Amino acid sequence: MDSALDITTNEFIEAEHLWELAFVDKDRYRCIGCGTQIWPASYKRDINKRRPYFRLGSSGSHISPCDIDGEVEFVKRAKLERIGTADGFPLPFPNKLVLSDERPVVGQAGDEQPQDGAQRRRSRSGGGLGLRAYHGHTVKTIRPIVKKFMRFPHDREGLPLEIQNCDGNTYATVFWRLNRLMQFRYPVHLYFAPLHWKAPVKSDTHIEWQLNAGDWDTVNNRRGASYRLRVDWSEWSDTKKNTLMYEVEVARGRAKDSGGAVNAWMFFLGEQDSQDQTLLVVNRHQLICCVEGSKQI
Ligand SMILES: [Zn+2]
Repeated sequence: MDSALDITTNEFIEAEHLWELAFVDKDRYRCIGCGTQIWPASYKRDINKRRPYFRLGSSGSHISPCDIDGEVEFVKRAKLERIGTADGFPLPFPNKLVLSDERPVVGQAGDEQPQDGAQRRRSRSGGGLGLRAYHGHTVKTIRPIVKKFMRFPHDREGLPLEIQNCDGNTYATVFWRLNRLMQFRYPVHLYFAPLHWKAPVKSDTHIEWQLNAGDWDTVNNRRGASYRLRVDWSEWSDTKKNTLMYEVEVARGRAKDSGGAVNAWMFFLGEQDSQDQTLLVVNRHQLICCVEGSKQI
């Protein structure tokens, strides 16, 4: 499992959050589907090669019915076909991004914390398997949205998604694959592109990665002008900076080990510079993540 309910804060967390903690309290995590205790694993930076995740204890099991328990089967099926229906989606999914210091007024529809939203919006829509239908919940970082985007490729057009100031209202329209250089009509999108192999340029105020997207130099048969992702991290703690760089290294490492089968993909809710179309800027850590994934996603 890659997310959990933290019973101390009563919030959802993504497993990658464990990288940021100086001390991991193993007792405080519960399955978001059924509330059974789950345990953090593979969270030691520089020691564990894979990403952090949560697992059941050796004698543990989900408490039926638990939708997270069935997620593996859905993910397999979702590689081949759409799993959502007109009634909703069979698994909890994020449909709205709200940054933590931008909480909407309490009482508005759709503004609950994730754990409430996921549970409350659950409705029964028939008998047998797949009887649950979810209509989305709010999250505070793009990572859970990105994971759903990657795991459910045939559902992108049917899954609603709302991000303030960002054009589009479904996963298919909010996500924006960078290809050839151009000035976009709306500068803010949830952009994604493979990382270029070049090392990033770092300073006290920002870090900048070259992306493997842009124009092709046909004369020399190589990449010409490319998009660049600049992360303005002047307000970030060292922990946040190190965690981002570490996440990129993990994704790059997996891509390298795959022998070319997967890419390290950079996802970010960024803004294109009005003067320089190659430059895309992000300034908040909640709005960027780097994950390994197949060449075609
Ligand atoms: Zn469960």
